Amino acid sequence: MSKPIIDLRSDTVTKPTPAMLNAMMDAKVGDDVFGEDPTINLLEQTVAAMFGMKKALFCPSGTMTNQIAIRVHTIPQDEVICDEKSHIYNYEGGGVAYNSLVSIKLLHGDRGRLSADQIEEAIRPDDIHAPVSKLVSLENTVNKGGGAFYDLQSLKQIRDLCDKRGLKLHLDGARLFNAMVASETHPQDYGALFDSISICLSKGLGAPVGSLLLLNSEEDLRKAKRIRKVFGGGMRQAGYLAAAGLFALENNIQRLQEDHQHAQQIGAVLQSLDWIEEVLPADTNIVIFTIKDHLNVQFVLNRLQQNGVLAVPFGGKSIRFVTHLEIDKDSINKLIEILEEISINDIKVENIST
Ligand SMILES: *Cc1c(COP(=O)(O)O)cnc(C)c1O
Repeated sequence: MSKPIIDLRSDTVTKPTPAMLNAMMDAKVGDDVFGEDPTINLLEQTVAAMFGMKKALFCPSGTMTNQIAIRVHTIPQDEVICDEKSHIYNYEGGGVAYNSLVSIKLLHGDRGRLSADQIEEAIRPDDIHAPVSKLVSLENTVNKGGGAFYDLQSLKQIRDLCDKRGLKLHLDGARLFNAMVASETHPQDYGALFDSISICLSKGLGAPVGSLLLLNSEEDLRKAKRIRKVFGGGMRQAGYLAAAGLFALENNIQRLQEDHQHAQQIGAVLQSLDWIEEVLPADTNIVIFTIKDHLNVQFVLNRLQQNGVLAVPFGGKSIRFVTHLEIDKDSINKLIEILEEISINDIKVENIST
């Protein structure tokens, strides 16, 4: 019998459970480009109401919802202010330039979190030489920041600044539900602060596909639908996917707490190992750690893989683990055993064989 795989590469690797599949099978569907898919309509209405925002638009991916939002809020030659760790900057194929013809002002935040003061300093003067500062894009939780989340007070300060200076404010909330569970906040807290929010159903919530873009006006929704169409994201009988999303929202939010506990457990064990240099605080479901300088990331990944553990290299000497709903207590215990068995001698750079 083959070893069970402990797949910690991402919280996107989960497959629908039988209960979720049943909900999908039972979905009523129609052509969503005509606005006739009752399950998508229900999902969009449910999520908009949940956040206290006017409209929501179902899309195939979080990259698409972010890219649509940026295009809705900007015109060419504008500038988007974001942290250097942002997904919109690092992991969306340069789409900000390609899709919206705008530039990016990168700031160095605290594990990917920006402060109002930092943003204020970055806003351009009214000068024909400069791009026009138009949009601030925040990420919560911050993937590259090891799942760090904002406190509401900081977000309110950023909202006030954006109001004062006439900037739009977007939230990449691919893992916003992780932030909410960890900080005991609610969707309306965020709905009240942002001009648009992207949430993913396909991360910790465990749906196979789908993201929603939340918006605050009928006009923004019309723009967003037009942009979704040109991006090729107008789907037809996608209510089967929306049904998975509704099931996820109903069943899989509170359980994120377990993923966070598991991440903390892993973080604590990593702290105690002699081959680890640094572990970022495991605030939600992501654990990023660096190994000591004379050690080799690929050797660590190979050792893990030989034992059925999958993880991703995360730049330099870093590795990322993400916990999710297919990782149970037993997987965590097994993982801890495997981590504790890794010997520093096996992962030294000089042991690279030719
Ligand atoms: C996963 C993710 C997205 C969206 O990714 P897709 O794979 O396109 O759904 C956006 N932002 C962050 C921070 C993410 O982690």
